[in-house]
Amino acid sequence: MESRHRAWAEIDLEAFRRNLRRSRQLAGRAAVWPVLKANAYGHGAVAIARICAQESVERIGVGDSSEALQLRHSGVRLPLLVLGAAIDAEVPALVEHQVEIGVHSESRTRALAKLAESHGGQLGVHLKVDTGMGRLGVRPEAVLRVARAILEEPALELRGLMTHFSSSRGAHDPTTAGQQALFFAAASELRQTLGVTPLLHCANSAAVYSELPQLGDAVRPGIALYGILPGDLEHPADLEEVLSLHTQVVFLKDVPAGTAIGYDSRWTSHRPTRIATLPMGYNDGLPYTLGQHGQGQVLVRGQRCPVVGAVSMDYCTIDVGHVPGVAVGDRVTLIGRSGPDHLRAHDLASAAGTIPYEIACRLGARVQRVYLGGQQPAPTPAPVAT
Ligand SMILES: *Cc1c(COP(=O)(O)O)cnc(C)c1O
Repeated sequence: MESRHRAWAEIDLEAFRRNLRRSRQLAGRAAVWPVLKANAYGHGAVAIARICAQESVERIGVGDSSEALQLRHSGVRLPLLVLGAAIDAEVPALVEHQVEIGVHSESRTRALAKLAESHGGQLGVHLKVDTGMGRLGVRPEAVLRVARAILEEPALELRGLMTHFSSSRGAHDPTTAGQQALFFAAASELRQTLGVTPLLHCANSAAVYSELPQLGDAVRPGIALYGILPGDLEHPADLEEVLSLHTQVVFLKDVPAGTAIGYDSRWTSHRPTRIATLPMGYNDGLPYTLGQHGQGQVLVRGQRCPVVGAVSMDYCTIDVGHVPGVAVGDRVTLIGRSGPDHLRAHDLASAAGTIPYEIACRLGARVQRVYLGGQQPAPTPAPVAT
């Protein structure tokens, strides 16, 4: 199987299922609404959504209407919520396919209601409060006014009140509790003044995995379900990385000391060594900067090998001079296990000066997704009456 693809990601759907179940335990009474934006963080939204459906999740978060429609067209019937803002052109399809969206202002509320009416439908909306992210969402003092506007519009149904935390450290950062307090204050104002109790949801992976208390009615973890934790949160032993990333050696060359490698000669061998070329470049999602600081590493035959020279569009180069017996066709692991050693998305990200989110969602379309597992587990047979 290894050699069938130039570059491939193995996606262990059973690991995703186990991570989802663990997250449900951590979330306690709050429902878990998995976030599948950016093609399920590069893992393939349709395959991941099927697991969510098998596990009876109540709602899925997506990034925009095209992602919602992709799921609808592949038969996903679960409630879907576009987490961000919709632009006008997206609204008819959202109405038609019963996709919920976040709203952020009174004028947006009125415009959405008009569009929904003119398409003869109703839109489920989640009012988003900006409690400190500073991006989307109404200021806390405007929540009542915008909620009233939503309630006045028969074409809109207020289903949720949401906010988004800015810290990647969750409960370990005092700003999270501050945001949470503003959020719950807005929720009780809504309840007391307008008598409405939309579903309350605020927590991302960092909040859930730092065990923030008081999570509301639902949580919206993304990255943790894929087995990666944000920031410097400690990785629990039972959280499994869902995706591993591999390529293979396509070319080997022995070079003397002083040989320049790649565009702009960014790396020069300081001893005679052996350079392996890999058929994976920045078009496949490898960061251009991976070879720049001498930090990028991959695993070949269980040993770490540095990425040397600039990553190019379709290829990159590694130094395998210290690994005996490397051959064309050898499997190369960028994320995942090889022999006793293991590289995480975090390792690749920090070597390139970025975050694991970016590594996951920028994996290119040419990287073949190879799925493991994913079958509906056989139902336990009911005991036969005798
Ligand atoms: C992306 C996103 C999430 C999930 O964040 P993670 O850090 O991946 O858990 C939750 N809520 C909103 C609004 C988001 O945009």
